[in-house]
Amino acid sequence: MNIILLGPPGAGKGTQARKLVDERNMVQLSTGDMLRAARTSGTEMGKTVAGVMDRGELVTDEIVIGLIREQLESDNAGGGYIFDGFPRTLAQADALGRLLVDMGENLDCVIEMQVDDDALVDRITARSTCGACGEVYNDNTKPIPANEKCTNCGASDFQRRADDNEESLRTRLMAYYKQTSPLVGYYYAKGDLRSVDGLASMDDVATSIASALRQSE
Ligand code: ADP
Ligand code: ZN
Repeated sequence: MNIILLGPPGAGKGTQARKLVDERNMVQLSTGDMLRAARTSGTEMGKTVAGVMDRGELVTDEIVIGLIREQLESDNAGGGYIFDGFPRTLAQADALGRLLVDMGENLDCVIEMQVDDDALVDRITARSTCGACGEVYNDNTKPIPANEKCTNCGASDFQRRADDNEESLRTRLMAYYKQTSPLVGYYYAKGDLRSVDGLASMDDVATSIASALRQSE
C-alpha cells in the first residue's frame, strides 16, 4: 500500500516512517532527506536549495516533484511507499496523483499527525539525529546515550539540523499553515484522510497508524 504522512515539522513523520519501513518492508521517500543528501554531495541542485532550506522556506515544486519522479521510476517498492514530507503543496499533491496513476498504483491512505504548536517548538529545538543511520533522539524524551554511541548502529556522529532553530522553525510552521495544511481538506474530500494524535507516545502513535492502515486495506 502507498501512504502519505502529513503533518507540521516535528510531528514525528520521520520517526513513524522508519518504524513502518522496519515492520512492513515499505520504502520511505522523504524529500527532506533527499534534499539534505543533495546538499551533502554538493550537487548544483544542492547548492540552489541550501539557503531556502536553512531559512525554512519551501523548495520549488519543480525540484521536489522531479526528485520523487526519479525515485518512483528507479525503485520497485514491494511493500509500498511512505511519502514523508511530500506533498507539501496542492500542485505537489496533484503531481503525485498523476505519477501514481501513470504507474498503475493507488494512494491508499493519508495519515494526518496532529500535534499542537507549542509541542512542535519544544520537540524540534531538542532534536538531534544519528548522522550514520538517521535514528532520531530528543534531549528530553530520548537522550543520546551516556556512552555517546547510537543505540541503533553504534556510530558516534550526532547532528543537529541547520534548520532546527527557533527562527527557521517559525518560517517552517508558516509554510505549513499557508501552503501544506490545505492538503488536509484536499485529502478529506477525496476520502483518503485518517487523523491520529501525534502527541501520544511513539508506540501509541504507531498503534493508531497501524489501525488506520488496517481500515484502508
Ligand atoms: P520537517 O522536519 O521540517 O518536516 P523535512 O526534513 O521534511 O522537514 O524538510 C526540510 C526542508 O526541506 C523544508 O523546510 C523545505 O525547505 C525542504 N522540503 C522538504 N520537502 C519539501 C517539499 N515537498 N516541498 C518543498 N520543500 C521541501
Ligand atoms: Zn545510528
